[in-house]
Amino acid sequence: MGNATSDYYELISKELEHQQPLLLELSHKLHANPEIRFQEHQAAAWLSDTLEQQGFVVERGVGSLATAFKATVKGKGNGPNIAFLCEYDALEGLGHACGHNLIATMGLGAGLALKPLMTELPGNLFVIGTPGEEGGGGKVILLENGIFEGIDTALMIHPSYNNGAGGPALARVAWEVRYSGKPAHAAAAPHLGINALDAIRLAFNGMDALRQQVKPDVRMHAIITEGGDAPNIIPHNAALKIYIRSAAKAYLHDSVLPRMRGVFEGAALMTGTEVSIKEIAKPYDDMVQHTGLNERFDYHAQRLGRPLGAKDSEGSGSTDMGNVSHVMPSLHAYLAIDDEAKPHTHEFAQAARGTRGDQCILDGATILASIGLDVLLNPSIVETKA
Ligand SMILES: [Zn+2]
Ligand SMILES: [Zn+2]
Repeated sequence: MGNATSDYYELISKELEHQQPLLLELSHKLHANPEIRFQEHQAAAWLSDTLEQQGFVVERGVGSLATAFKATVKGKGNGPNIAFLCEYDALEGLGHACGHNLIATMGLGAGLALKPLMTELPGNLFVIGTPGEEGGGGKVILLENGIFEGIDTALMIHPSYNNGAGGPALARVAWEVRYSGKPAHAAAAPHLGINALDAIRLAFNGMDALRQQVKPDVRMHAIITEGGDAPNIIPHNAALKIYIRSAAKAYLHDSVLPRMRGVFEGAALMTGTEVSIKEIAKPYDDMVQHTGLNERFDYHAQRLGRPLGAKDSEGSGSTDMGNVSHVMPSLHAYLAIDDEAKPHTHEFAQAARGTRGDQCILDGATILASIGLDVLLNPSIVETKA
């Protein structure tokens, strides 16, 4: 004991230098073997095996998700419970175009870097494998099933095209809307039909009218998934899928969704169809920013020579990390792996396997481990909620 904080930072960097080959190999292996939401069996096994080999106690298949895991190292005495989160799901048809191979190895690397210090530090260290971020809401399920119980702070970094903490994430709901009517011969007896596709068309019109009457951060985007079987039959079944988002969970749920429901019900009334509205994914919450954690991120990113980019004002998506951030102080920061490429593109997938992707692992693991250390040494950082 008796190390100064800067000595600990030094030890973290040394450990990561030592672990570098293992982390890069793991990242490249994940990248070469992409698995989509809740099918990440190899990824979960490789990450769990590595943590176990390095002395973590690993529980597999936690929270009723086969590809989730929770790895633990106990520290010396009472202190904060800190968790590094790993994501490792890929995208249909695009592989690791969101760079979750890097998220996985940054989180795991941070755990490996901090583990040797836990014999001297208070608190406990967790690495939690959170599958199915892309549309599956894995973290929401893990929250519901108690896997985050007792955790004081959750930390992760996502690859991006700039460096920074504090970028927004939108609250989101996902619905399937189905209309059912009555089939009829479209030429010989159209007056006997009830047209479900008409309801869909009117629903899109209603949605476009609503678009002007909501706050500018609201997003609504839908696709038609069923629109009839043949031109000579009045469509009696039609369906759409829609995501509706806003920067604030309360505004989305209290103001936007009731009006959206009105649009869909209105379209049914106009056409005489029946409508059913079903939630098709767990609602995602917006990201609650934690000033203390974001400040620690800024400090360590600059320490590593990473310039901080402008907070992203171009818009953003949604993440199940938002739900975690409503429950405990959380960090969801970004590190650049390319100056141009945006997530969910072929270019971003390439960057996630490139030199800058590799550098992101080391920098990200260093930053996460250093913030973890800061919290263990100074729990007051996370004693306020935001
Ligand atoms: Zn993504
Ligand atoms: Zn992502």
